[in-house]
Amino acid sequence: MDKLVSLSKRRGYVFQSSEIYGGTGSVWDYGPLGVELKRNVKEAWWRAMVHMRDDIEGLDAAILMHPRVWEASGHVENFTDPLVECRNCHRRFRVDILLAETGAADLEHAQCPSCGKSGQWTEPRQFNLMFKTQKGAAEDSADVIYLRPETAQGIYVNFLNVQQSARQKIPFGIAQIGKAFRNEITPGNFTFRTLEFEQMEMQFFVKPGTDGEWFERWRELRWKWHQETIGLAADRLRYHPHEKLAHYASAAGDVEFFFGGTIGDEGWGEIEGIHNRTDFDLGRHQEYSGKKLQYVDPQANERYLPYIIETSAGADRVTLAVLANAYREEEVEGEVRTVLSIKPSLAPLKAGVFPLVKKDGMPERATQIHEDLRARGIPSFYDESGAIGRRYRRQDEAGTPFGITVDGETMADGTVTVRERDTMQQTRISQDEVVRYLEERIR
Ligand code: ATP
Repeated sequence: MDKLVSLSKRRGYVFQSSEIYGGTGSVWDYGPLGVELKRNVKEAWWRAMVHMRDDIEGLDAAILMHPRVWEASGHVENFTDPLVECRNCHRRFRVDILLAETGAADLEHAQCPSCGKSGQWTEPRQFNLMFKTQKGAAEDSADVIYLRPETAQGIYVNFLNVQQSARQKIPFGIAQIGKAFRNEITPGNFTFRTLEFEQMEMQFFVKPGTDGEWFERWRELRWKWHQETIGLAADRLRYHPHEKLAHYASAAGDVEFFFGGTIGDEGWGEIEGIHNRTDFDLGRHQEYSGKKLQYVDPQANERYLPYIIETSAGADRVTLAVLANAYREEEVEGEVRTVLSIKPSLAPLKAGVFPLVKKDGMPERATQIHEDLRARGIPSFYDESGAIGRRYRRQDEAGTPFGITVDGETMADGTVTVRERDTMQQTRISQDEVVRYLEERIR
C-alpha cells in the first residue's frame, strides 16, 4: 500500500487533500490520471447498469434532502450511541453493548471482543455517522440538514416519479452515482475509507416473493462485472455472506477484494454490498411522509409495496482495487520495472506517442498521430523528452497500455512501432492503421 500511495502521488493519481496545510485526515484528491481512471470506472458501471439495460433508469438526486428522510431511513436513530474504538485492532463498538456483552464494570476492564486486548479504548464519543450542517441564516435547530451518508434514499423517495415518468413496470431498477459522506471514526487506509466518497448504487424493485431469486441474480451479475469488466483477479475476489443482518435486510453479502495490509479482514475489504432490503425503506417512507408509495400493477390489478434488491458499490474502493490489482514490479535487464497493468478500457491514457528523436520531421509526424487519436476520443500523451526507454517506463508506471514510436523507418515507409505495456513486445504497423488498431485493442 505504501508503494501504491507513493506511485499515486508521483504519477498524479491521488494526492492528499490540502497537503500544503499538512493534509486532512481521510480525505483525498484525484489528480490528472486518477480523475480519468475513476471516471472510466463509473462509466463502465453506468454502461452495464443503465445503458445496456431496458429495465434500469438513471437518476441524479441531490445530496441535501429533507431531514425527515434520515429519520425514516433509521440513520438519525441508529447512529447516535456512544462509540469507542479499540486502539489495537481499530474495531468500533457501542459502549453499552460492549459492557453488556463482556460483563465488565467499566471500559478499563472491558476486553476487546475482536482482538482480546483489555482497556485499550479511545474516549467514548456520542457519535452519529452523519455530517450535520445548517440550512439558511438562522442558527436554529429546525434548520439542521444532513449530508447524505448513502445515495440510496434519493432513489427511494423518487421511486414513483421515476416509475411513472419512465413508464416502467416491476421488476425494474433505478441507478445513481453520487457523493456520500460519513464521519468515520476508523479512518485511514488511503482511499479505502474516507469521509467523502462516491457510491454507485442501484435499487431493483421486485414483487415480494421473487426477491430471493433476484438477489441471487444480482449477486452473480455484480460478481461478473468486477471480474470481467473491471478485470480484478479471480483469486483476489471473494464473496462474503453476512451472518448478522442490518435492521432493514433479509439477506446480504459483500464482494470483497484482497487489498492486503491493514485493510478490512486480514487484507480483504468490501468493495460492494448486495442486500435484500425487503419493503423496509418504502414502508418507512410511506409511514413518515404520509404518501402512498405502492406500485399498482394494472394487469394483475394488484397493489403492493415492492421489495428492493440493492447493489451498492464504492467508486473509490473499486478504483483503489483496480490500482492494487494492476500494480506489479518486475526485473528487466537488471532494473526494476514498475507497471500498472490496468485494463486498456479503464486506463486513463490509452497511448503514449513518441518521436524517437527531436528532428527529421519525426515530432511533426508523431504530433499528427497524437491529434488523430484525440480526434477519435482516444486519450493520448505526446512525449519527446529523454531517452525512449525512459519515456516507455514513465508510461508503464502511469498504466498507459500502448506506446507508439515514430522513427527513421516511419519517415521512409510510413510504419510505426506499437509497444505493449504488459509484454513490452513491439509490432510494426502502418501509421494509417494506428487508430483502428488501438480502437480494437481498447474495446
Ligand atoms: P464498511 O463496512 O467498510 O464501513 P459499509 O458496509 O458501511 O462499509 P455500505 O454502507 O454497504 O458500506 O456502502 C456501500 C459501499 O460504499 C461499500 O461497499 C464501499 O465500497 C463504499 N463505502 C462505504 N463507506 C465508505 C467510506 N467511508 N469510504 C469509501 N467508500 C465507502
